[in-house]
Amino acid sequence: MRLCSASSLVAAVAAASLAWLSFAAAPSADREPPVVTPGTAGSPPSDAVVLFDGKDLSAWKGEDGGEPRWKVAEGFMEVGPKGLMTRQEFGAIQLHLEWASPAEVKGDGQGRGNSGVYFQGRYEIQVLDSYQNKTYFNGQAASFYGHNAPLVNASRKPGQWQSYDIVFHPPSPGADGKVRPGSFTVFHNGVLVQDHIPVQGDASVAAKFSGVTPTGPLLLQDHGNPVRYRNIWVRKLD
Ligand code: MG
Repeated sequence: MRLCSASSLVAAVAAASLAWLSFAAAPSADREPPVVTPGTAGSPPSDAVVLFDGKDLSAWKGEDGGEPRWKVAEGFMEVGPKGLMTRQEFGAIQLHLEWASPAEVKGDGQGRGNSGVYFQGRYEIQVLDSYQNKTYFNGQAASFYGHNAPLVNASRKPGQWQSYDIVFHPPSPGADGKVRPGSFTVFHNGVLVQDHIPVQGDASVAAKFSGVTPTGPLLLQDHGNPVRYRNIWVRKLD
């Protein structure tokens, strides 16, 4: 067997170093990933914008622009007259929120524990008591309302706290004038229910706003049922 000469070994090491340097300088590797302290059990991580910590509605206004009229009690808010809208607007975000439909079951189908989270005031991820409560598939809990049914029904019983973890990218205008779709990825109680599905730009039924836009408010729907919310935070992704 022929051994490498010292000079060829040096050349090989130098070439490997150059290759490493060129990789390190590539655009995908030129930004140190920021350190983020993760939360536990859904609590907000260090870089989150906290929208509701159980104390007050200072991050919110009524969907008519007036003062919010929802009740805050014992660490949660409860749906009251008119929807709630964030004072801040958002583009692409990661959202965490927890909700509970009323423990006392009333109504059925869309009339049981109905609320919803409208991204940019346009695209609704449905909140509904879907525990042993049939309705149309793209209108049950964790559906992209009117567009896409959830992969599974991961609902807990009425009155129990449930979580949504949602990644939303808004649609945007393309150079050709056509809409470039955005996307929804949704976890319901930690279970994947919407797997990077397209958001084409047509607003859900009963949306407050329409049209493709870079940013917009989050809106919690008043559908006449006393659904409760707690622990709401977002991380901006753009
Ligand atoms: Mg709804």
